[in-house]
Amino acid sequence: MVPIIGLSDQTHLTNFSGDKKAWPVYMTIGNILSQTRNSPAKMSVLLVALLPVPPKLTGESSRADETQRQINADSLRAVFDLVLAPLHYVSHEGMVMDCADGKTRLCFPILSAWIADHAEHTTLHGIGSKSCPKCEVPCNELGGNPREVYEVRDYAIYEEKARQLESGEAGSTREYFRQVGVKIGRNVFTGLHRVNPSDLHKPDLLHNIYLGLFKHMMQWVEGFLKKHKRQQAFDDAWKEIPPYPGFSVPKKAYREVTQWQGKEMRNLSRCISAVLASALRNPDSSQHHDFQIALKCVSALVDFSLMAQYRSHTPDTLSYLERYLLTFHQTKDIFLEFRTSKATRAEANRQDRELRELIANERAHEIRRTSAAKRRRQADQERLQRVNQRADLIRRENHFNFIKMHYLSHFSSHVRRFGSISMYSTEIGELAHKDQIKEGYRRSNKNEAARQILSHYGRQHALGMRLQTLDVLLKAENVVAIEGTGRETAAAPRRILKGRMKNVSTLTELCRTCNIDYGDIMEEMLRFTKQTVADDHPLSSDPTELGLLPVEQFTHLEIPVADFQETDVFQIHRARSTGTMAFRSGGPRNDWVWIQAGGEDSYGDLRGRGVAQLLALFKIRNVFSEAAGVRRLALLRVLDPINSGRFHLASGHIRVGKRRSGREMRIVDIGTVIGQAHVIPTGEGQWIVNHRIDLRTFNEIY
Ligand SMILES: [Zn+2]
Repeated sequence: MVPIIGLSDQTHLTNFSGDKKAWPVYMTIGNILSQTRNSPAKMSVLLVALLPVPPKLTGESSRADETQRQINADSLRAVFDLVLAPLHYVSHEGMVMDCADGKTRLCFPILSAWIADHAEHTTLHGIGSKSCPKCEVPCNELGGNPREVYEVRDYAIYEEKARQLESGEAGSTREYFRQVGVKIGRNVFTGLHRVNPSDLHKPDLLHNIYLGLFKHMMQWVEGFLKKHKRQQAFDDAWKEIPPYPGFSVPKKAYREVTQWQGKEMRNLSRCISAVLASALRNPDSSQHHDFQIALKCVSALVDFSLMAQYRSHTPDTLSYLERYLLTFHQTKDIFLEFRTSKATRAEANRQDRELRELIANERAHEIRRTSAAKRRRQADQERLQRVNQRADLIRRENHFNFIKMHYLSHFSSHVRRFGSISMYSTEIGELAHKDQIKEGYRRSNKNEAARQILSHYGRQHALGMRLQTLDVLLKAENVVAIEGTGRETAAAPRRILKGRMKNVSTLTELCRTCNIDYGDIMEEMLRFTKQTVADDHPLSSDPTELGLLPVEQFTHLEIPVADFQETDVFQIHRARSTGTMAFRSGGPRNDWVWIQAGGEDSYGDLRGRGVAQLLALFKIRNVFSEAAGVRRLALLRVLDPINSGRFHLASGHIRVGKRRSGREMRIVDIGTVIGQAHVIPTGEGQWIVNHRIDLRTFNEIY
């Protein structure tokens, strides 16, 4: 079986004015590992055709538009017939093909996925813009209960009906098509052997969630913050977001960001729930309920997006996925009032104007002399009447009926039938545009560019593949060592201290760079020594001797953290501790880390882990011992879990805070530090643990 994955996406040929458009079709195959397939350098996505870009509908008359639509559909179908024609025979009979491993196999190439945005899907499937390519959901139920199951689209029936329509026996066909949201009965995928067109649509994290729902949601959140006067608190928390591996700290204030692209949106999704929880802290009694629901809603969508990225699923993870979606739907109404469309707003203003005129007319007929108190009462009444009228209209008109809301309900069934979602990435299409279309157009003479674009990439691809083959052959013969693939795959790598600081050779000097009291650090050193007494090379328990031992201080600690759902792949966390010294051009940086503080069953939902801030990283050499052992240590400021590490019900997060009693500082072996932590300050000496920062943390704390 060779599952063929098709991609299509209309694009502008240049970044300026954008009058010229191209509509490329790419193909790749599912037999290639998704990691390889999604890497543009491997050139596994092939440009197959450039579709004719149809002219815009004029909108002058519905009849002309209808004709134009039919012409567009017919020509599109004709082109697709050509593109897909080679598949007809081979999907029936198979074909002997050479495989990459040197063997020949009888292959059956079958179209199994089509990656495109919603608009494109509606065109290719011949359905209305508010219809789902997979099921017959009515257009006014797109934001409804995700557990509702609708009839799966059967495109064979549509084709049958379309034939009846052509042969004149229309009957109720038009009405039927209107009901199920079908515009063109015979779409481009109709009639392919072993292909069910309703299975071709694939969930799309980038467009559906990050550029779709998250963008919408942020507008609701902004409205919500404004209503409750929490914008400043949100901006303040936004500014305080600490760094984390693979996460880029926002450089601008939230309100200054104008362009939210996929990357920024992904970043935002990883911290939004904790930032919002910080902004909505300490609600008064009237806000308490609303804040809780709003946070629940936002968190549920983030949780859904995170779990949708798992590479492998179990019945448990799938039931979580479904539960998050349900929670999102059950709580989203809290934001309904911020979903006012332009049309509704205009209508509200119109009604308001009418009401004002009406009231003014009534006033004019009244007796002139009314008391001041009465006038005030009247004005109050008038204001209330206007506010109510607007609220009524908005409540009636606002809704969540849009297709991106509905698509979410197909995610879990997709995983059940076809496996993880992340393997169908729409991003590869966008990268392909750059290499294959725009570059080809740039190099063409801009006149009848289509052919030149097609042949340009053909040459590039042939050369590229030859180079890759040579690479592999070289590797096989071991002639040249090919450089690493960029991933660090060493078996069980160690923690390493790096960035030795100058001018630090004793504990006294260490105290100076960190601005810590010598007495405090010595007290901790003695405590640490006492704990490790059974060790091979205990440090001295005499303060004078300890103070003389040579010390080296470092600015960062590299901690290998196993990648989530991967074996032997490690991500390196670089936890920084610069003491009072500046980090790069900014201020000092002393990162937050997780430390192993107890067994799995301690610290509640943190499962034995504590949050601490690095104060110093250092080595100390026991020169008084004959064995001369070296200790690699971290000086930390430890925080206490609040509410014994259980989730705070109202905010859905775990909180940590400054220690109220006992010692705050602690010295530990660097082996105790298990990775970087992400916490958002809430003022008042408390922090919110952001467990949604990456999949691994998310999977461990919930
Ligand atoms: Zn559907």
